Amino acid sequence: LAIAICVSGCSHPQENKDILFQTATVNALLEGVYDGEITFQELKQHGDFGLGTVNCLDGEMIGLEGKFYQIKADGMAYLIGDSMKTPFGCVTFFEPDKSVLLDKNVDYNQLEQYLDNLLPTKNIFYAIKIEGVFRYIKTRSVPRQSKPYRPLAEVVKNQTTFEFHNVEGTIVGFRCPAYVEGINVPGYHLHFITKDKKAGGHLLQCQMQNVKIEVDCTSEFYMVLPKSSEFYKLDLTKEKQAELEKVEK
Ligand code: ZN
Repeated sequence: LAIAICVSGCSHPQENKDILFQTATVNALLEGVYDGEITFQELKQHGDFGLGTVNCLDGEMIGLEGKFYQIKADGMAYLIGDSMKTPFGCVTFFEPDKSVLLDKNVDYNQLEQYLDNLLPTKNIFYAIKIEGVFRYIKTRSVPRQSKPYRPLAEVVKNQTTFEFHNVEGTIVGFRCPAYVEGINVPGYHLHFITKDKKAGGHLLQCQMQNVKIEVDCTSEFYMVLPKSSEFYKLDLTKEKQAELEKVEK
């Protein structure tokens, strides 16, 4: 039983917290639409947990426990101010439905298989949080862009990668169904931040054991599209799955 008490000034207008809220589409980001109109103040109304990027594609974004950080191309994490904006953000209010201790040693591919076996279906969305000391983490970030913007596949050619060993921190991300192709990232999309909130990035590789995995089953999806001429002019009819996989992995 959920009882929602909302007095004036309530900061959570969403009574149902199992909603994945998303701004723009991943293919718009691939096409180089790196500026959005949604501020982090607005984004926080829809979730305390999530990932994406910030305007000008200035690094990888991660949200955890209501605080949002950008991991810039120097690998350092910076707290994001409420007035900053995002061209692509995915958030939810994280309330775990499942919690397990991962007792075997897995890499990224094995982690995906392990999680797939844990989930009741591949047809809904999941928010995923993994906490603990990680044997190995490899992340990347992207450099801030200036106009005219190049496509994301071009930008990631200049990505910088970072390696961590026996690092304490949190992996934050989502598993989306295959049918979101073009809209979000089908399968797993994970970001990492260290416990001291000083470093992190978009997760490329990992090795972990004895970490806590929490999963939030999410059956509702809410998308807000940009009102910019950049977005309106895009040709979003093209199939870009191979390009997305190159950019993500
Ligand atoms: Zn990412």
